[in-house]
Amino acid sequence: MSSAASAAGGLDPARTGGEVTRLDPPGEGSATGLVLTGPALTDLALARGAVDRSSYLRANDAWLAQAWAAPDTRVVVAEHGTALCEIDDEQASLVFVGPERAPASVRFLLGVDELNTAFFGVAGPLPTALPDGVRALPLREAGPLLSDRDAGLMTEAVALANWHETFTHCPRCGSPTVTFAAGHARRCPVDASEHFPRVDPAMIVLVTDPDDRALLARNAMWPERRVSVLAGFVEAGESAEQAVAREVQEETGITVRAVTYLGSQPWPMPQSLMLGFRAAATRTEITVDADEIAEAHWYSRADLRAAIESGALRLPPPVSIAHRIIQSWYGAELPGTWT
Ligand SMILES: [Zn+2]
Repeated sequence: MSSAASAAGGLDPARTGGEVTRLDPPGEGSATGLVLTGPALTDLALARGAVDRSSYLRANDAWLAQAWAAPDTRVVVAEHGTALCEIDDEQASLVFVGPERAPASVRFLLGVDELNTAFFGVAGPLPTALPDGVRALPLREAGPLLSDRDAGLMTEAVALANWHETFTHCPRCGSPTVTFAAGHARRCPVDASEHFPRVDPAMIVLVTDPDDRALLARNAMWPERRVSVLAGFVEAGESAEQAVAREVQEETGITVRAVTYLGSQPWPMPQSLMLGFRAAATRTEITVDADEIAEAHWYSRADLRAAIESGALRLPPPVSIAHRIIQSWYGAELPGTWT
């Protein structure tokens, strides 16, 4: 159970027996303890966490050395978007190692919990021989099954490991870079330029028409029957809400107004941040961009339920913000997801 939902006295999926999405009134807390003004999606699977990132310790070399030598320090090894998890009855927990058993690879501080236990991440490699019940799980699969603490730690570890795996050289001069700030930054030893983890913002939006029908589309790359809300990367020099209007227009010919922010969730696969929105259409005639979108249609709630129940449509998995956005419009739990 998420502590914030408990503290706020709100609905919690674990207590209500199914995933419950709600549009909170202003002032409700989220699993991170942060408050969004306006309606918000809370407890998104990958936007949880219970360990303070303790960024003030990242420059404290003496503390970092001491923490790495402490016997109770826990290390998450992340590689290629996966980490070791123990799975038991639809619940998963991260498998930590002590610093002495961690691979000698790029290391980064994840944070410190309320008991003063330090958590680090290491960018692979994962061991090849695994005990029974332990698997290297992709974040997409593990995220919804993990506790608030472990979901936060794995999301941060995977995001940083992905960056370290990819951004090894200076973009200015091509020299190999070295880490600093406890693995949260890299510096070029030749020209002293500093580089920080790259995050690509992407917007994702549920568009409604005046009858409150939802616009769902199938990407040209997806198999038959899979549909979702529209999404796309924010371009250089563009605001997130401008990206919403542009992508909707480009992909479906629909124009929107009244863009409402719903919440965000990191999606480090490999390095996105999904910014969720609702938008109201002012022009509802659909003209799809055939390069990107195979088909797009307006669905009433009854249409959608019938299409899912008949197997004609499948929706994104609950770990995704897309699923939560669609569910928040629909007003109840939705079956029939693809993974
Ligand atoms: Zn350089």
